[in-house]
Amino acid sequence: MEKLFKRIPKVGGESEKEPTESSSEGTIEPQDQLKTEKVEKAPEISPEKAKKHEGHTPKFSWSIKPQGDQKPKQAARTDKADIPDDLWIKCAHCKELIYSKEFENNKKVCPKCGFHFRLTAYERVNFTLDEGSFEEINARLVTGDPLNFTTATETYQVKSDQTRAKTGLNESIVTGFGTLEGLPVALAVCDFNYMGGSMGSVFGEKLVRLVEQALERRVPLLAVSASGGARMHEGMFSLMQMAKTTAAFARLGEAGLPFISLLVDPCTGGVIASYASVADIILAEPGALLGFAGPRVIEQVTKQKLPPGFQTAEFFLEHGMIDQVVARKELRPVIAKLLHHYQTAVAQNEAREREVTYAR
Ligand SMILES: [Zn+2]
Repeated sequence: MEKLFKRIPKVGGESEKEPTESSSEGTIEPQDQLKTEKVEKAPEISPEKAKKHEGHTPKFSWSIKPQGDQKPKQAARTDKADIPDDLWIKCAHCKELIYSKEFENNKKVCPKCGFHFRLTAYERVNFTLDEGSFEEINARLVTGDPLNFTTATETYQVKSDQTRAKTGLNESIVTGFGTLEGLPVALAVCDFNYMGGSMGSVFGEKLVRLVEQALERRVPLLAVSASGGARMHEGMFSLMQMAKTTAAFARLGEAGLPFISLLVDPCTGGVIASYASVADIILAEPGALLGFAGPRVIEQVTKQKLPPGFQTAEFFLEHGMIDQVVARKELRPVIAKLLHHYQTAVAQNEAREREVTYAR
């Protein structure tokens, strides 16, 4: 195992600490996602461009990519939408045509039926945080191949390289800090385009580093999770991320810092079964698929017919698993309100402490 714990040389710019370990489980691949060939607006915050992988060291469970010019090759994923031309988008749910400008302005929610399309990590960042406030950390951490994992058709290393080139992302999670209505927040966002948002060792490591920095800076943390679960290519190392991330969030809780978890379509497997479910407040977008295993698997195992609406955000709310279903356009105000409550509580606490000090 020692190859997983080697220190990675520090590469300028970001706060990189030494890695600790690595991660895995069933990966849900993005299905039927249409690539809209053209992305009208490049995200303001550009991810590093996935450079063709060269000279990687498979000995490590991850490594830091050399810094290059990085432009996102944003494979804009508008979930199941057809774009006949640049002007119109066909809703995957109601099949109505939507004017693409209107669609973008509506944060990729169908104005006719309210269907929430999936977002890329950077779209989510842009829709969530104050403009230009996002400061990404650990963007260059890339996965190694601790198990030399190979399927019948390809190696994990090749798959990773291809996925990086295709998505312009180095991992399935983007982490950093920014502000929301002026209030500081640590933000982690999964991207389902990258191997189904699966949680491997770098995913876990990036999330834990974010928690550690949030602790240092004393800011609340918001995690937006869309994932098929642990990444099977990293076997046990992926499963270990469930414990690792949950333990990190426990420390956040002990320090009295709020953790807000937003579950978006789809959030399943080892992610919903670990850190994403241990938040102080759990929100979900309307219609999001949530659950551990897929309905077909559950029906086969339990030999029971599942109730209608099973494994949706609304079903989870009805059964007390989450706190609120929030439409995308309401997310910013709702999260801002939560952050405001926290700030007010902090201010009141400090005031009380000052009074006690003077009284003495
Ligand atoms: Zn629609």
